[in-house]
Amino acid sequence: MSIEENLKNIHQHIPANVKLVCVSKFHPVDAILQAYNTGERAFGENRPQELVAKVPLLPSDIEWHFIGNLQTNKVKMVVPVATLIHSISSTKLIEAVEKESAKINKISRILLELHVSKEDSKQGFFPEEIIEFLNENPPERFPHLLFCGIMAMATNTDNEEIIRNDFKTVHSTFDILKNRFWSNDAQFKEISMGMSGDYHIAIAEGATMVRIGTSIFGPRQY
Ligand SMILES: *Cc1c(COP(=O)(O)O)cnc(C)c1O
Repeated sequence: MSIEENLKNIHQHIPANVKLVCVSKFHPVDAILQAYNTGERAFGENRPQELVAKVPLLPSDIEWHFIGNLQTNKVKMVVPVATLIHSISSTKLIEAVEKESAKINKISRILLELHVSKEDSKQGFFPEEIIEFLNENPPERFPHLLFCGIMAMATNTDNEEIIRNDFKTVHSTFDILKNRFWSNDAQFKEISMGMSGDYHIAIAEGATMVRIGTSIFGPRQY
């Protein structure tokens, strides 16, 4: 099926209040343009080099979402071009993105990435870890960051109960963070969760953003 048909199908399963981020990593510029020409504007990349190479080749009204593992020495590549960084997964990164954003006079929109899956390899904060950090370093300490919500990946498994439970943990952690640190801040509102294999479950569990690649663009050639 074509990218156009894939997108049409996906939109039939995504409510209007859930934002679709088209994950274009490893796919060429012309695939992104095909999606763009159907009306998509939000694209997600996970490698800084690939992101900065694509940006100048594509329309300037695209919102670029950075969703990948970010090393602190690559922060300066990503901060100027990203509309939203989903993958803020350590206190070191919070500090680094604040510092770089201050340097270029930008308020960077970010999501805190949570580690809820059962795999050790996954990035992100454990819920108690980010709560403790924010207790000691309240959001006002980072004037160049706009905390927009949280992001997570579920365990990579066929077991729907495990996936659903991971997403429930994400949602309840969002509620705790919202109540404790952003109860008067309407900007802290996003729950970015759900990929090609599990976005139906993520939406049922309260996702406000889904990040879908394979179901739109087909398999990636690594
Ligand atoms: C690649 C990627 C996705 C998209 O995965 P698909 O299974 O291709 O839909 C979503 N989120 C993150 C963080 C990714 O790296």
